[in-house]
Amino acid sequence: MKKTISDIDINGKKVIVRVDFNVPLDKETNTKITDSTRIDSAMPTIEYILSNGASLILMSHLGRPDGKPNPKYSLKPVYEYLANKLSNYNVLFANDCIGDEVSKQAKNLKSGDVLLLENLRFHKEEEENDANFSKELANLADVYVNDAFGTAHRAHASTAGIAKAKAGMQAVAGFLMEKEIKYLGEAVANPQKPFTAIIGGAKISSKISVLINLLDKVDTLIVVGGMAYTFLKAKGFSIGSSLCEDDFLDTAKEIMEKASSMGKMLYLPIDNVIADKFDNNANIKTTEDANIPDGWMGMDVGPKSLTDIKNIISKSKTIVWNGPLGVFEMENFAKSTFEVAKFIAQTDVVSVIGGGDSVSAVNKSGVADKMTHISTGGGAALEFLEGKDLPGIEVLEDK
Ligand code: AMP
Repeated sequence: MKKTISDIDINGKKVIVRVDFNVPLDKETNTKITDSTRIDSAMPTIEYILSNGASLILMSHLGRPDGKPNPKYSLKPVYEYLANKLSNYNVLFANDCIGDEVSKQAKNLKSGDVLLLENLRFHKEEEENDANFSKELANLADVYVNDAFGTAHRAHASTAGIAKAKAGMQAVAGFLMEKEIKYLGEAVANPQKPFTAIIGGAKISSKISVLINLLDKVDTLIVVGGMAYTFLKAKGFSIGSSLCEDDFLDTAKEIMEKASSMGKMLYLPIDNVIADKFDNNANIKTTEDANIPDGWMGMDVGPKSLTDIKNIISKSKTIVWNGPLGVFEMENFAKSTFEVAKFIAQTDVVSVIGGGDSVSAVNKSGVADKMTHISTGGGAALEFLEGKDLPGIEVLEDK
């Protein structure tokens, strides 16, 4: 387990926190935050630091400015939001994230003051994990905190380099990061059994490492969504014009053989909701079994499969879910994804929603608050589920 801010003494110190304030802005003016969840989720860490005698420097990226200053990606709107939210504190904005001006502002901070730095990615050195850039950031503070799980899989200056850039600087996790490590890590490394993983989404190619890593840990692996059809084809079923990655038929076979040699259950849909085109208004049918006729494509798992999946969930103690069961963006093919979200919400299983589209499916189903943990990081959550060490977490001190 990694140390967190509550494990160290921050009284009287300057604490620099890497947060994920990469919030969506309105398309017309780029000045209004349309969803403040990411800022709000960092509040426990921010408030803890401010109420424990430290001064606070916040740094983040926003969008993809390609290493150059661009007003479109300024963190100014985030500053306005923060200043309002932290109205009891002195909240300041720095027009850059490095340089003399920022150093002066950082130096003058008093306990309880907040300084938000301008977008880190206005400098290409951030994504290059440049040593000098890391040092300039590190020199602004005494303690480094990483609370940005969503970028922890990238070795950037503010997520990796900074932690080793200044001798003696402590590097610890914030509370949001702690929660991600606890739930994603624990669920996979030390799950309450039976442990079921539901892996869906479009392509098997993007989730092979997840499937292989989880197979070792789970009791049951449910493969759904577009990627199920490569598995079904490898098993000899006809799949019509469903999504299929022919280059991965052998991989699918190997994963199925591995599952059976390990005595694990690998569940594939036994019926499908199919359409004659990739369109919500297509002609729609439900198949009797896993086979799909020519000219039709699998768009969602069918009712028999949905019943099976619910049965497996109800016998599980831990569920990790990544990727929708069908083309859930289209109303006619969203049923099983939303029903699974609602069903998980009703059971008292430990439920970890591992990033990406399953998070938006859970949000859309209105059951987000019923899940044990919803990861804030798409790519980072996937890499965690692949069993990789994330550079932004590795550099933090162990307990
Ligand atoms: P991923 O980013 O890999 O989790 O994939 C999410 C995408 O998978 C969503 O946009 C879904 O529409 C898509 N998806 C799920 N089921 C299917 C399917 N049966 N055919 C095509 N795409 C699918």
